[in-house]
Amino acid sequence: MFNGKVVLVTGASSGIGEATALAFSAEGARVAAGARRAGRLESLARTAPGEVLTLDLDVTDQESVRAAVSATVERFGALDVLVNNAGVMLNGPIAGADTAEWTRMVETNLLGSMYMVHAALPHLLKAKGTIVQISSTSGRVASAYSGVYGATKFGITAFSEALRQEVTAQGVRVVVVEPGFVATELISHNTDPTMRALARDMAAAMRTLQPEDIANAVVYAVTQPEHVAVNEILVRPTDQT
Ligand code: NDP
Repeated sequence: MFNGKVVLVTGASSGIGEATALAFSAEGARVAAGARRAGRLESLARTAPGEVLTLDLDVTDQESVRAAVSATVERFGALDVLVNNAGVMLNGPIAGADTAEWTRMVETNLLGSMYMVHAALPHLLKAKGTIVQISSTSGRVASAYSGVYGATKFGITAFSEALRQEVTAQGVRVVVVEPGFVATELISHNTDPTMRALARDMAAAMRTLQPEDIANAVVYAVTQPEHVAVNEILVRPTDQT
């Protein structure tokens, strides 16, 4: 059904991005997989059933973003789907926070995904393609200790709705996916041990989502007929209140 389509996934070296790249590959897509950890991307390319182009991509670097999009189009001749997934979550109290972590979250989650859209949009307009923005339940409900992470995800929602209004008449679909708790490496980057412990306790108290659960939602949205725009998908673990 998706044979030959070209899908670029950011943050494809682990978790949701890796599962999404594999899921599209299984659907017959040609996949461009971007992230900073080249070794992880190489093993993804070896595991995937179809053709995978690995991209040395840092979404905070506009040059790197432009080069990744160009390399994808050069190799595959088009770009049909952008999955804007790369992200970091560095939670903790606002008072006394290390603001370098705020900068990193805003640059990666928000600006990085905007740079990707900017670079990919001319090709997506040509292909009447689809943009999938990986937001979060934190993009719908704010909560203590994830103020900046939540702000980046609320920001993605605002940007995505503006984008949708600008491009939908030209046949480009915008999908916002909002996962609840997914078992990935995301929480391991937290520098605050209390936050890591909190996340570990949360995970132990529920059947968390697996990255493949989100990949399934992304593939569902993207493979709908062209006149159907699935604009928003919220997927929580059944056990998450
Ligand atoms: P992971 O930590 O497993 O994956 C994050 C990915 O982002 C990695 O592939 C990492 O690759 C990449 N990344 C980080 N910084 C950069 C950068 N500067 N440039 C390019 N790639 C980068 O976590 P998840 O799979 O959980 O996270 C994926 C997305 O899902 C994130 O946007 C996250 O906010 C969102 N999400 C996750 C939830 C969860 O519970 N896990 C819930 C809701 C949303 P590398 O380090 O190799 O560059």
